[in-house]
Amino acid sequence: MRDSPNIIITGTPGVGKTTHCELLSQRTGLRHLSVNQIVKDKGCHEGWDEEYSCWIVDEDRLLDSLEDEVPTGGCLIDWHACDLFPKRWIDLVVVLRVDSSTLYDRLNARGYPEAKLQENLDAELMDVLIQEAREAYDDEIVVELTSNTSEEMEENIDRIEEWIKRWKLDHGSS
Ligand code: ADP
Repeated sequence: MRDSPNIIITGTPGVGKTTHCELLSQRTGLRHLSVNQIVKDKGCHEGWDEEYSCWIVDEDRLLDSLEDEVPTGGCLIDWHACDLFPKRWIDLVVVLRVDSSTLYDRLNARGYPEAKLQENLDAELMDVLIQEAREAYDDEIVVELTSNTSEEMEENIDRIEEWIKRWKLDHGSS
């Protein structure tokens, strides 16, 4: 049905989702869908959470607004959650991981409030996102990659790019 795959790039805030998606989009031509931006631009929320400084997402409205774009393929879906997207939309789920001290530095540099910073460090330590991905999708499409250094990021990008090429060959659309 699609001639280009849909890939979720997920992980705790600060792991490098946006940076990976931007590089991958430049290299492969897949479209970077920043779900945070879509939530904000299309009003898929029920207001702003002051304590956590984030939008309270209306998942139904979000899925409605993605329904025309995602099923046709070629999307890099960038978000810190992954289990709400229908399985039939998704070909690969990449969960990025980082060490605690690296994550602390990145979130601190962003000026995260203490409660939000601690909550995200705990989530990363407790494998929240990888578990969520494994529960929501088949094991064989879930990949865990580390993103502590720019060398690791380069390796990740090369690996995902290769995967996309192979997917296209396998689906007769290269
Ligand atoms: P996310 O989208 O997951 O919140 P970002 O892509 O915005 O994360 O990255 C957060 C910060 O960490 C940025 O300053 C980015 O340049 C840096 N960063 C991300 N991944 C890496 C990496 N693998 N090596 C070095 N710096 C990175």
